[in-house]
Amino acid sequence: MVLDKFSRPLKDLRISVTDRCNFRCVYCMPKEVFGSDYNYLSRSEMLSYEEIVRFVRLLVNLGITKVRITGGDPLLRKDIEYLIKMLALIPGLDLTLTTNGSLLTQDKCLALREAGLQRITVSLDSLNNDTFASLNDVEFSVDEVINGINNAASAGLSPIKINMVVMRSVNLASIVPMAKHFRESGHILRFIEYMDVGDSNGWRLDEVVPSSEIVELIGAQLPLEPIAPNYVGEVANRWKYTDGSGEIGLISSVSQPFCGDCSRLRLSARGELFTCLFASSGYDVRSLLRNNASDEKIVDVVSSLWKNRDDRYSELRSKQSHRVSPVEMSYIGG
Ligand code: SAM
Ligand code: SF4
Ligand code: SF4
Repeated sequence: MVLDKFSRPLKDLRISVTDRCNFRCVYCMPKEVFGSDYNYLSRSEMLSYEEIVRFVRLLVNLGITKVRITGGDPLLRKDIEYLIKMLALIPGLDLTLTTNGSLLTQDKCLALREAGLQRITVSLDSLNNDTFASLNDVEFSVDEVINGINNAASAGLSPIKINMVVMRSVNLASIVPMAKHFRESGHILRFIEYMDVGDSNGWRLDEVVPSSEIVELIGAQLPLEPIAPNYVGEVANRWKYTDGSGEIGLISSVSQPFCGDCSRLRLSARGELFTCLFASSGYDVRSLLRNNASDEKIVDVVSSLWKNRDDRYSELRSKQSHRVSPVEMSYIGG
């Protein structure tokens, strides 16, 4: 086990496998910035599946127990099942993936399950088509995502987590309908406070709906009570419906930062390591992997990177007079 400067162990790795996406969520990849002339990574610039797998194998020695595949949208990367299959062979890894749900056909879900994917998280910000379209900004319909969620459930990729980012001026009114819809489904709906990741989404504090307000809104109609975390460092605060019809999660990175337990390392599609979602630069692991660095050298580099880690951006957010220029969410994977 390796500890950082605040004694936080390295446990989770999030791997972005592409910086591309077929959505243009206004809080993540606004059209004005991610237009047709945007310069995405080429195939050779991205880590290959073999490079990713080698890296993950090495990090298991440093205590990594959980890997989340993300992006951009990870299902846009060709033959993602192939990567899943190789990662699933590594003993002791909890393997999961986050997607916008647009490409979750029956066949894709079965292929992912057969490859060894255990669970999946699907993002969905509203049940109202107009509201959803104004957030994804590509006219993608709610029914198609719901179909994707159903396909994932039928394939056994459960329990499914549903991520909903809340922006006050856009989908506040979608909170209660979403809670009612997913209450008895067995899926876990998680509300995410809108974050100031990247430089392009024009983030404003008054667009953030604090988790306490979300709990009040839902609790007024469907009584809730808090429940204990599943494990130390769980990102979401858990609440259950008092009638036993399920639970929700609240990810309060703005109103109640959880840097104190943050055990996540992030690997970008280009092969840079970020010790914080808000880091302004990453460590170039791709060069090591492509220049025949030994296993020991790579483990050493990651180990000392983690040991020197003192990130706690969200805890310092309110005290900062200026923002560093962080990387975009679609690049680092959320
Ligand atoms: N494309 C996939 C998806 O949307 O699920 C995976 C990548 S996406 C960057 C990962 C998660 O980050 C999604 O649940 C998304 O809603 C969330 N996200 C993106 N931008 C965000 C922001 N500014 N604040 C909070 N969450 C955000
Ligand atoms: Fe794409 Fe996910 Fe970002 Fe939306 S949140 S633009 S689906 S990467
Ligand atoms: Fe972890 Fe950085 Fe987020 Fe804090 S701000 S929880 S250190 S990723």
